[in-house]
Amino acid sequence: MLNFPVPYPDELLYSTVARAGVHFGITSPKQLLDEVFNDRKVVATADLPSHIEAIAQQYPISLGLTAETLAYKHTLFPLYAPFIPESRRLRNLDSMIRRTKGAVHLALGVVTSRIRQRHHFHLCPECLEEQLSKYGEYYWARQWQVAGCKYCLKHAELCSTQYELHNYHRHTFIALAPTMTCLSSQSNSPPLDKLIEKRVRELLDLSPSQSPSLEQWSNFYRRTAQDAHITKKSKIIYNDLKHKILSCWPAHQLTQLGIPVTDNQSNWLRFFMRKHRKTFSYLQHIVVLESLLGPEWIFKEVLPQVKKQTPLVTISYYSPSKNISQTTLHSKREAWLKIVENKGSRKARLSGSDHLYSWLYRNDRCWLKRINKKYRKTTCSENRRVDWHERDKQTLEKLKTVQQDHANKLNSPRRSKNWYFAQAECRHMAQKMDMLPLSAAFLENNNEDVASYQMRRIIRAIQGHDLQPGETPNWELLRLSGLSEQRMKKRTRQFLQHLGWSV
Ligand SMILES: [Zn+2]
Repeated sequence: MLNFPVPYPDELLYSTVARAGVHFGITSPKQLLDEVFNDRKVVATADLPSHIEAIAQQYPISLGLTAETLAYKHTLFPLYAPFIPESRRLRNLDSMIRRTKGAVHLALGVVTSRIRQRHHFHLCPECLEEQLSKYGEYYWARQWQVAGCKYCLKHAELCSTQYELHNYHRHTFIALAPTMTCLSSQSNSPPLDKLIEKRVRELLDLSPSQSPSLEQWSNFYRRTAQDAHITKKSKIIYNDLKHKILSCWPAHQLTQLGIPVTDNQSNWLRFFMRKHRKTFSYLQHIVVLESLLGPEWIFKEVLPQVKKQTPLVTISYYSPSKNISQTTLHSKREAWLKIVENKGSRKARLSGSDHLYSWLYRNDRCWLKRINKKYRKTTCSENRRVDWHERDKQTLEKLKTVQQDHANKLNSPRRSKNWYFAQAECRHMAQKMDMLPLSAAFLENNNEDVASYQMRRIIRAIQGHDLQPGETPNWELLRLSGLSEQRMKKRTRQFLQHLGWSV
């Protein structure tokens, strides 16, 4: 489309597309989708839209409005990006630039987050007046739509409209029109300090950059807690932490945000200060950072610090030989960690990494011992947690598949219990049969005894060579079946007699 509108500062891409519809006089939502995206299935998503590439292609290169720039300056993606690991950041960004349906919301945890989501589009009536006098039209601003932001940064409380923010089945882009009415009456309470709003603004203004890992976030918070003197022997004192949070944030505000701080053992704050096993939302990060760092911090400075974090063990057990370069040390440690994480320390040594072990033992013993101990423990605890019922069901499935795969085949050695295990690639399970009752019963009923195996070989010979009783001598049948008179089982003999052979 020629003259596709350029997004205004902080305008949602959604809003730009909606304005395009207005500018070009397109009233049919499907036609608008066709014109902009060449695809009628695009869902009109306000916060984390997809198909951004199609919009970027509307602009001349000279404007510098690449898909990545649009995602960072005109969607809510920067609120999530710094808190998810780098691989996920790239994957999600790619999903938004190309095409997805709602997948990004799931992947970024928006859907599952405990944060109270915003359900309707919000706006600031005073900003609207400014927009009109400055640009001659209205547009949906990003910050109005952010969960947790109650106020306009410049003016007063935001108000809600009747338009739903998350409607994954909707294909209509709704432009902000003068006829739009505010639903919620604004309260007359004086605005709070707009702390959340200011921090959200900082995040929205961030440029694209690599994300820290979850481990780096965990270590950063652990150190920050130490600096804030709320730890004892490297453990965080929860009461002190809680006190710090609640002296910085009113309890009712945290409840309103969906992240109340309580003494409950499963309170989010306890998990937040432990090793991060999942991502937390921007609001949780803002709340904790503000409480631990005081008012004098900004995301632009904190993020590089987080990215500089090294594994905690490196600091507390730092005793490598002095004449080893940091780069060498680091690469050796990483190499060992990679192996030991997968195999455990003993297996790692046995499977060809003994030289690496020896090098670290000579030059970095404390670290090595600690790491090995950590992974030895993990292996033990995992063993204790084996879900035998589940294991039994899985083994049974494999055994059944083997049986089906061989159902009409006459070849193969005797289908003994061991043969089944070998085919199902779970030979080690043979020792554990008392833990696997379902699989044991299956094998008891389906394993092939010697007589059945002999009969299978006879059928194979008869079919393969078209043998007839009376025409083919006994000895030839036995030779072709690989059987001997002496070892023939009684049942096999009866079977042959039944077929007409006189044995
Ligand atoms: Zn405003």
